[in-house]
Amino acid sequence: AATTLSSSFSAGDNATAIIIPSKPKALTISYKELSAEILSFQKKLAKLGVTPASAVSIALPNTYELIVAFLASAWQRGIAAPLNSAYKQEEFEFYIDDLKSAVALVPQGSYAKDGPAVRAARKYQAAIAECYWNGREVVLDVKEEGKLKGKGNQKVEKAQPDDIALVLHTSGTTGRPKAVPLTHRNLTRTMKNIKATYDLSPADRTMLVMPLFHVHGLLAGFLAPLYSGGSVIVPPKFSASEFWDDFIAHGANWYTAVPTIHQILLKNPPPHTKPKIRFIRSCSSPLSPTVFHQLEEAYNAPVLEAYAMTEAAHQMTSNPLPPGKRQPGSVGIGQGVEVKILNGQGKEVPQGSEAEICIRGENVTKGYLNNPEANKSSFTASGFFRTGDQGKQDKDGYVIITGRIKELINKGGEKISPIELDNVLARHPKVGEAVSFAIPDEMFGQEVAVAVVPKPGQHITEDELKKWVAEKLAKFKVPKKVYFTDNMPKTATGKIQRRIVADTMLKQDM
Ligand code: ATP
Ligand code: MG
Repeated sequence: AATTLSSSFSAGDNATAIIIPSKPKALTISYKELSAEILSFQKKLAKLGVTPASAVSIALPNTYELIVAFLASAWQRGIAAPLNSAYKQEEFEFYIDDLKSAVALVPQGSYAKDGPAVRAARKYQAAIAECYWNGREVVLDVKEEGKLKGKGNQKVEKAQPDDIALVLHTSGTTGRPKAVPLTHRNLTRTMKNIKATYDLSPADRTMLVMPLFHVHGLLAGFLAPLYSGGSVIVPPKFSASEFWDDFIAHGANWYTAVPTIHQILLKNPPPHTKPKIRFIRSCSSPLSPTVFHQLEEAYNAPVLEAYAMTEAAHQMTSNPLPPGKRQPGSVGIGQGVEVKILNGQGKEVPQGSEAEICIRGENVTKGYLNNPEANKSSFTASGFFRTGDQGKQDKDGYVIITGRIKELINKGGEKISPIELDNVLARHPKVGEAVSFAIPDEMFGQEVAVAVVPKPGQHITEDELKKWVAEKLAKFKVPKKVYFTDNMPKTATGKIQRRIVADTMLKQDM
């Protein structure tokens, strides 16, 4: 069985791998064409100077060029790092610097515009190349060679199972997002686990709605279906009004998404021709039993909630397909991954008791990059990974997540680091102190809120602060609600506890 991304799908297959539903005519790519395109792009990367362990930052939206660039980097034994193309310069700088990226791939036209990814790449001397589909091939248009100057014309490599293929960052409870390296072996293990969980086959066709810069979209929405020989429809971005038209027109039969997207789709139901759906997968934040039942009723298909994290190369548990039992409110059972509920000493607690959800499997990262401290505290003596999530297991092994040990803001599956936001707010000249936290939200599950103490004698408006954040961070991180206070609640030792701040501020609303 395949243990590298270069051997994980059949290169000679004429079956459809990818459909890009561009208007008026969709672009259809077979496995054979995809393989040839990746190999050709791999040669372009080698010519530019990408060698084993070179980091390739990819700041492209969900497109064919992103798919090809990602796979070609991994085939070349490089480390692909897909980034949210909506990031601002500071965010790009952080990621490009953290990985010491050799190359930054940016969309067509962004070089002339001197876009944020371009400026960030230049600051750290990464080579800058525009990457786009010209109707015949995926172009690599090198604009600046940066640190690769004079290091071009490298040989074409062959990926090895334990090469790092991908690095994605978590949002980080300590403020500094943690870099999670995932090897070809980690990724192919998840691909196998997901194929087995949902019985994926070449007959299946999925609509990708999640971004490819998170494990959810990349592994469950894209790589696992590809590994199974099926087809993936890749719209440039999620559009509620076009979703069902594309889904039906291109013959999809399942999709995976965060609960927020399921809820949006429930409000934009399919037209008269009801699609035949084999199953719907929900993952990345809790799916309420109410929405679970609404979905099953609306689409007449089983809804399978799964549980995943970056460090596990996505999936850990899932509810099974029928005739297996689906349990609303539970994330199901371990799927090719061992799950145990362990206490602080790494000992299993009695069945039904709450403690930390811990996991072990070939999919799990070996450890964070440059973070020995986190690596020490994240693994038990028996090699189980501590997820940071609190939970319990029922007698059939079904996992119920009861809370997050950490305090990240989970806005419809988008994880926002409160500390990153605190730091940006604290830089405002009129802000004395700022603490960010989650507040409950009907649409997204959680929304971003901040409590702010202005500097003495200063007056700040809510709009001023929102604008300040919007200039520095991606739009989804802009607080929905700003609380002004002249006294930030603290613990006895003078440390800020977000939950206490949140509860105090929410009380003000009542
Ligand atoms: P960090 O590791 O920096 O704290 P993070 O854990 O929020 O960030 P991700 O790896 O994207 O970043 O998300 C994994 C987390 O998402 C899980 O640990 C869990 O808390 C949450 N999660 C995933 N799936 C579900 C689900 N079905 N229900 C509830 N929570 C979920
Ligand atoms: Mg985590």
